[in-house]
Amino acid sequence: MWSFQIPNKIKHFGWRACTESLPTLANLHQQKVIGSPLCSNCDKASETVHHALWDCDKVLGCWGHRFKKLRSHDQSMGSFVDLVFSARQQEENMELFMVVAWLIWNRRNKMHFNEQHLPPEKILDAATALLIEFHENSVGRLERKLAQTQR
Ligand SMILES: [Zn+2]
Repeated sequence: MWSFQIPNKIKHFGWRACTESLPTLANLHQQKVIGSPLCSNCDKASETVHHALWDCDKVLGCWGHRFKKLRSHDQSMGSFVDLVFSARQQEENMELFMVVAWLIWNRRNKMHFNEQHLPPEKILDAATALLIEFHENSVGRLERKLAQTQR
């Protein structure tokens, strides 16, 4: 399913997000671990994966203008896996999309534990930097492999 080049831990995160198996407040509420599924960021809606990563007012700024088109065409009706399909249909940069989603989830976790976290407007830059670094390392590994086989 994930043919794009992103770190394995982010692929794993994407898989869990699409199968609704992240420990969101909605999931924890369903498992009767906590009393309320309400998003602690906005207090307006149940914190599903789709809400936490995309729909919450407080994460709008994290996506910046880069995914504006996707937002205006979003037909996902509240599920993250549908959002992923929309993004693919519109030929969004899926690597960037997944890394941004992962950074938003990390940010959300840090906020829950009152740890320092990135401001929304830094997320897109951080995602881009992470991808560049990952690609450079992958190319480096490939080149080293090739150099070895040619010896
Ligand atoms: Zn919210």
